[in-house]
Amino acid sequence: MSFLEYAPAPESRSILSLRDDYGLFIDGAFRAGRGTPFQTISPASEERIATIANANADDVDDAVAAARRAYERTWSRMSGRDRGKYLFRIARLVQERARELAVAESLDNGKPIKESRDVDVPLVAAWFFYYAGWADKLDHAGLGANPRALGVAAQVIPWNFPLLMLAWKIAPALAAGNTVVLKPAETTSLTALLFAEIVQQADLPPGVVNIITGAGDTGAALVGHEGVDKVAFTGSTAVGRQIAKTVAGTSKKLTLELGGKAANIVFDDAPIDQAVEGIVNGIFFNQGHVCCAGSRLLVQESIHDEVVDRLKQRLSTLRLGDPLDKNTDIGAINSREQLDRIRELSDVGVDEGAERWTAPCEIPENGFWYAPTIFTGVQTSHRIAREEIFGPVLSVLTFRTPQEAIAKANNTPYGLSAGIWTDKGSRILAVADQLRAGVVWANTFNRFDPASPFGGYKESGYGREGGRHGLGAYLAPASVGGAQRRIET
Ligand code: NAD
Repeated sequence: MSFLEYAPAPESRSILSLRDDYGLFIDGAFRAGRGTPFQTISPASEERIATIANANADDVDDAVAAARRAYERTWSRMSGRDRGKYLFRIARLVQERARELAVAESLDNGKPIKESRDVDVPLVAAWFFYYAGWADKLDHAGLGANPRALGVAAQVIPWNFPLLMLAWKIAPALAAGNTVVLKPAETTSLTALLFAEIVQQADLPPGVVNIITGAGDTGAALVGHEGVDKVAFTGSTAVGRQIAKTVAGTSKKLTLELGGKAANIVFDDAPIDQAVEGIVNGIFFNQGHVCCAGSRLLVQESIHDEVVDRLKQRLSTLRLGDPLDKNTDIGAINSREQLDRIRELSDVGVDEGAERWTAPCEIPENGFWYAPTIFTGVQTSHRIAREEIFGPVLSVLTFRTPQEAIAKANNTPYGLSAGIWTDKGSRILAVADQLRAGVVWANTFNRFDPASPFGGYKESGYGREGGRHGLGAYLAPASVGGAQRRIET
């Protein structure tokens, strides 16, 4: 195992020493918020974890002012090499506290510990390592010599990958020389606040990273703040649209990472065992709370029955339950509201005439749970084939020819990701070329790498995160030049 993947196995909540109350992290210190505090709960047990501060408009002002001071006085004046050292330090501290962060993430979000331990937290460290390396190489970002940071970045993130989405936002912003004010989702603020402790441990200059907690009104005050130069949002298409309207008519730069309804296309020559595992991973990883989840299975008609039978067998072996149990495959749904949304859309599927099959899982008494579910007989016009369910629900459609598969895959308002399963390399290239999706996986699904650009077409948003392009989202191109005086000898 490489040092990038280092993450010891967590055992239980007892390794956490959480505070009872968490304040806002502004200008390098925790302080009370001026809004009404709220509770964060474990979605698996509905038990209270901690009280979280609520930032009002005055707190947002303070956070933006702190970020501006830090930008002007320290961060924008520091050499890229020194900024990079801070990012490396953060990455190492994330590794050192990996076990604690993974347990806290599973407790607060509901995701299985094997996912937070083996996927989320190692990727958080990888993102900081990757962008640490860019901090002194900005003139290779493809934006001219000496591109400039934008200034203060307002970043608003969702609840499905709380710490990882934070890393996707903060690492490139800091590497490029910006300072940030980040707001996590209201149901999953805990690990962002543990990250604030890491920022303190790493001794970052005060105000370079500010974390403010609260609900949508706090997010709206932040993105609408006139002291902000750049807005980066990940979340629902509906809120993304509102933010685009707020930002329109200002000079703020905007990137939006929104929803998805990915097609996972399985051809009849695909290695079936591998494809079944890929379909399961594609939609049931993180309870399907994944913007790029393979929520539409497009399977070639000749193998439909076999694939569906094998899927049902496989899903019958999955363990649903305590997110902190290392054997758990399916954790809790993050909130009651999300559970209601999943139930409602799933019932619409039945009303529309699709056939629903539910995995035979025992559902715990407390908490929010939804058993893995498959719909067969789904038509492209059905709402469950068009709308993002954001839960462990798979809609199965069929196709006969590659052209039909491509047409159906593209028949969606979204365009974030897609998967192709086939034995033919030439088919992968030909099909991928015609898919309107920002990310296309071949014979795999849900793989992430900090060096790869991630983002979508159509209602999935605009801009890219990851790689050089993700860095470019926090930089302004610059042409700095002049005539050189000839020195006579
Ligand atoms: P959401 O849009 O309801 O909330 C996202 C964040 O925005 C939260 O922090 C929330 O408090 C804040 N917010 C709400 N209203 C706001 C407003 N008016 N102004 C500013 N901020 C506001 O989304 P969610 O339910 O938390 O997350 C699920 C959605 O996120 C799904 O649609 C999913 O596809 C999408 N998502 C996309 C990606 C991606 O990279 N494309 C990644 C993860 C999640």
